[in-house]
Amino acid sequence: MDERLQQPKTAEQIVQWAWSSLPAANRRLLEAIGASQWQVVSRPLGGALSDLVGSAGLGGLSAEAILETDGAFGVWEPRLRVVLIRVGDPRLEGVDGATREEFLARVAWHEWGHALSVVRCESADVARGRDLLELSPPGIRDRIRLAGYPVSQYTHEIVAETYALLMLRRVKGGSGQPLWLNNEIYRLLIEMTDWTD
Ligand SMILES: [Zn+2]
Repeated sequence: MDERLQQPKTAEQIVQWAWSSLPAANRRLLEAIGASQWQVVSRPLGGALSDLVGSAGLGGLSAEAILETDGAFGVWEPRLRVVLIRVGDPRLEGVDGATREEFLARVAWHEWGHALSVVRCESADVARGRDLLELSPPGIRDRIRLAGYPVSQYTHEIVAETYALLMLRRVKGGSGQPLWLNNEIYRLLIEMTDWTD
């Protein structure tokens, strides 16, 4: 058997695939808002991001922000127009290839959805975060609660997580509004991301 076929995909290849899977209109939107570039980073993201913004002359992150971001698998830095994706995280050690691929693609989709939400959400949508959380699918709701996000981030996190789930569904051939997705959340997602499916 050809050994090359056994090689796991690199993180770069996975993120590239995640990008090409996006609807073309979404790629154009992300290019327009400066969220279409990414870097794969093999160290905790807080320190990596702090060094990156520091060396761009923007001033590093606070110790608190570094600590907070260190736990993340992805982060979007609008000032540098780049998304950072963490690889080699000990939490993914021993995870099989297919699971790892899906996980990293979801991180990328989440960050792109998050960027669209941050740029396009009205303050009224952000203010409704707590109500929207109640309408979210239980998996998303629990994840956001457990992660301890401030209420001001609820709407963006809901859009980002729902976007990642719909992308996962899309690459598996699903389309339309899923039964598990509340009307209001689906409408919000369409508004924020121009989702068409
Ligand atoms: Zn997010």
